[in-house]
Amino acid sequence: MISRRTILAGLGATALTATARNAAFAQDTKQLVIDAHGHFTTEPKSFLDWRLAQIAGLKDPSQKPSPASLKITDDQLREAVQPQLKFQRDRGTDVAIFSPRASGMGHHIGNAETSADWSRLCNELIYRITQLMPENFIGVGQLPQSPGVDPKNCIEELERCVKQYGFVGVNLNPDPSGGFWKDPPLTDRYWYPVYEKLSELDVPAMIHVSASANANFHATGAHYIAADTAAFMQFIQGDLFKDFPKLRVIIPHGGGAVPFHWGRYRGLAQDMKKPPLEEHLLKNVFFDTCVYHQAGIDMMFRVIPVENIIFASEMVGAVRGIDPQSGHHFDDTKKYIDKLNLSAEDRRKVLEGNARRVYGLDRTAFMKKRG
Ligand SMILES: [Zn+2]
Repeated sequence: MISRRTILAGLGATALTATARNAAFAQDTKQLVIDAHGHFTTEPKSFLDWRLAQIAGLKDPSQKPSPASLKITDDQLREAVQPQLKFQRDRGTDVAIFSPRASGMGHHIGNAETSADWSRLCNELIYRITQLMPENFIGVGQLPQSPGVDPKNCIEELERCVKQYGFVGVNLNPDPSGGFWKDPPLTDRYWYPVYEKLSELDVPAMIHVSASANANFHATGAHYIAADTAAFMQFIQGDLFKDFPKLRVIIPHGGGAVPFHWGRYRGLAQDMKKPPLEEHLLKNVFFDTCVYHQAGIDMMFRVIPVENIIFASEMVGAVRGIDPQSGHHFDDTKKYIDKLNLSAEDRRKVLEGNARRVYGLDRTAFMKKRG
């Protein structure tokens, strides 16, 4: 094995590039690369067929399948996640924080019972994957939300996810109506039962909408990014983290429009007589790196404190193609991080340390084994 010193000597201090410095550091300290945002988007066909039958059963109850009728073998699950495993190997990431397909949550479909049955099945599959491949996947759950239904309804599944399945967080949908925003803002007391339980269990929530039921909002291009931005502004308007000082939330997709308009949000907070954003939100609100171009990542790192940025790619997910300008997949976000010329310490925070802290990963079997 090449030591860090050998690499340093070979390159000479002045000729040392950021990439070489990072490689040396990674080798020296066995740094992990944790991808904090991945979804199970390559499910076995029988799983998707079950969901279609469940939706058909809303109109014709004779078609409604029972949860027990779904049979998926361990081999089918291993086979299904091969694309994720290949990307992990190719891109040099170690482990994914892995949740059910976000657009598949479909909280607007059917009623609370529909959502409960579906969420339970989705979470069971994620749990099984984390058991079959504990070196590659750490679980995050889906909540059985439904528009207009009291979020207390989610507590049982939230507890199951964390206590029984060992999941390290959940996705919380700020708009279960799928693009019509019928429920109160995230800072309303309506949501407090979920925050109380998250605080008690000491796990974070990623604020993540599902599919769009509104033709005005393309799901991943508009609904996701608009919801990320709306959630951040709701947090500015409220005082949620005074009531829940330990609560952590992750706003995905780079925080939507937030980093680009950071001055607007700082100014709005000031006009509203709120404390500076660092004090008001940044002990509790974190952003991932699911931004699919270099200039966007460069800008994000200029305006958002490095302690608040968590590496993630959302693969295999929203954008699957290869960028003809770079020759690499748009969602190969590690390449953008590698080009940032971060100090070794900051790089470690973004790729590993921030996720460990925000998701409390040190209590997981995965981290205990890695040491
Ligand atoms: Zn996602």
